[in-house]
Amino acid sequence: MSAIRIVLCRPSHPGNIGAAARAMKTMGLTDLRLVAPARALAPKDEWMATHGADVLASARTHATLAAAIADCAAAFALSARAREWSPQVLDLRAAAGRAATIDAPVAFVFGNEAAGLTNDELFACQHLVHIPADPENSSLNLAQAVQVVCYELRMARGATVPAMRAEMPATVADLEGLYAHLEEAARESGFMAPGSKLRERWRRLFSRVPGLEREEVNILRGLLKSLTKK
Ligand code: SAH
Repeated sequence: MSAIRIVLCRPSHPGNIGAAARAMKTMGLTDLRLVAPARALAPKDEWMATHGADVLASARTHATLAAAIADCAAAFALSARAREWSPQVLDLRAAAGRAATIDAPVAFVFGNEAAGLTNDELFACQHLVHIPADPENSSLNLAQAVQVVCYELRMARGATVPAMRAEMPATVADLEGLYAHLEEAARESGFMAPGSKLRERWRRLFSRVPGLEREEVNILRGLLKSLTKK
């Protein structure tokens, strides 16, 4: 699995650098590189870093983009703008998928807040990657672009949400028991008219509830039982 490196070219806003570090940290990434930042890192950068302060503290600074990506097997340039001439264009999801298959360091390269990436920076990379935003407003804030990229990289590596507590699933017999109870209640209460399609209706209804649990069926049956007793 590739080691992911986030490279910020000539970042100027301290808050963005800190927020980018935090964005990386939340998605499990730690290798941050700054290429010719406008100024040395200052306490201001930490304002937005919060839990990413360690990522910020260990960030390495390089004089050139070439130096920052020299040992990478691939570099992906992020830009909102399509260019007449560019390396291979990919959407972010495709780029993240490709990066996940490379078993070596891979860089995702971001441009300066005001000017974006220069042509030289773009052509130092093998791929041009777009976050397919609204064409009328396609430019994301730098740190927010880093967040979206880190998220897609994490998803491409198979991230999942924690599973819900496993409960015993309802069986066919449980459901048949429920249907019988429903029918009994509907008949006894006079709700079920002759020729009624109720039976088909509730089978149809419950067929649209995947993963029904035995306990849930038992609650409904218990309720019907207590209602019909009275
Ligand atoms: N005004 C600049 C945009 C800078 S935004 C320009 O026109 O290029 C800062 C950086 O965030 C960009 O250089 C790029 O690396 C990244 N970014 C912002 N929006 C993006 C998008 N929709 N797709 C890919 N990268 C984006």
